[in-house]
Amino acid sequence: MAMDLGSRVDTLMDGLRTDLERLTAIPSVSFPGFPPEPLQQAHDLLVDLLRDAGVERIERLDLPDTAPIIVADVPPPSADAPTVLLYGHYDVQPPGDESLWQSPPFEPTPIDGGLGLRARGVADDKANIIVHLGVLRAYEGKPPVGLKIVLEGQEEYGSAFDDYPPTDPGRFACDAMVIADTGNIRPGSPTLTAGLRGASEVFVEVRTLDEARHSGEFGGAAPDALLVLLTALGTLHDVHGDVAVEGLRREEWTGTAYTQEEFRSLAGVRDGLPLMGTGSLGERLWSGPAITVIGIDAPGVDHAASAVVPYARAKLNLRFHPQQDPEEAQGLLVTHLQSMRPFGIPLTVTSGDAGPGFEPATEGPAYRAARTALREGWGKDPEFVASGGSIPLVNGLSKAAPGAEVLLFGAQDSMCNLHAPNERLLFSELRSAVIAEAAFLREYAEAYRAENRT
Ligand SMILES: [Zn+2]
Repeated sequence: MAMDLGSRVDTLMDGLRTDLERLTAIPSVSFPGFPPEPLQQAHDLLVDLLRDAGVERIERLDLPDTAPIIVADVPPPSADAPTVLLYGHYDVQPPGDESLWQSPPFEPTPIDGGLGLRARGVADDKANIIVHLGVLRAYEGKPPVGLKIVLEGQEEYGSAFDDYPPTDPGRFACDAMVIADTGNIRPGSPTLTAGLRGASEVFVEVRTLDEARHSGEFGGAAPDALLVLLTALGTLHDVHGDVAVEGLRREEWTGTAYTQEEFRSLAGVRDGLPLMGTGSLGERLWSGPAITVIGIDAPGVDHAASAVVPYARAKLNLRFHPQQDPEEAQGLLVTHLQSMRPFGIPLTVTSGDAGPGFEPATEGPAYRAARTALREGWGKDPEFVASGGSIPLVNGLSKAAPGAEVLLFGAQDSMCNLHAPNERLLFSELRSAVIAEAAFLREYAEAYRAENRT
């Protein structure tokens, strides 16, 4: 490249903005009940954009009940160049209550005097797809590595694609992959996501009576199912709010994390209230477990009869250490609840879904290249975070390409309101992410060559 990377990307920004606006104007929601045509439109637009950016080999992969997956590739420029897989998804979350949006969710609208753009899906994950496009343009379709570009259309809603890559490993074979479905802990702070907690669900229920009974005539002796359930749930945490289930892994977090203030503001914690648990936030959120009661079946307050409740049920969401086995973690919670006998009454505990976490190895040549590249993109050394949310496909892809280094970075930031009203993207993050990803390909090609010479 004749120009330096930053200046080169500056000349591309207007075009990238325009394409991001075109892409976010398409309401490509993948949830049931939403029309499939916009998914097809977003797919077709991306195929055109990739072709215009110099990608000649573009395939469409159709799996049952899943929006079409774009699998494109650019052959390596030489036999000693590595292959990098670039991932993104073109579907978006539903907009939710549109009255909470400051502008219509599918009318991309400039914010902060043109410093960013507001639209559903602009950060998650359309800007990250535009990053890949920007990198292709920066290299005029001839990057210094081979590329495999995988853009799926049903990430936000479970898809048959999650488990597909290991069944067709040749298609996904690569030396490193950039899973661009994340971003920075705060705008301007380059961040590599180096851990994803695992997740599982557990159901717990209790029946104590055939049916409800008058609380005056029976209360005091007839066993109260709701009270039994709540008493059991109350044993899941200690008095400080730390998880009290034995055996769930909790380790020190060595990367960066939110400040207490940032976290309070992001979570919308009411003034004056303490947070749950003890220890660093990184440990509480990423390298330790969390158990959340996400639903309870019980009579609603407004229509509650004066009666002893005969039956109650709760759904629990468990998040666990990235490296703990999902069945083991789930089993520990199940066993804990089964061992509880509030007032002598046993509970029925059932396991729901369980999905593994993910923790990439961060000491290889691709990570060294990424550290240099993110510094070039944002002008600062990158920091490491983890994420509480899971990306199921990451496990599928790394099973298909077990030797590949997996990098998670991108143009989002923690304040971009993803999955919430008024989702937004900052162009400064988009620009830096394009520079970083382009620099990564350059640095990694060099490192790979050096490694394979010796
Ligand atoms: Zn996403």
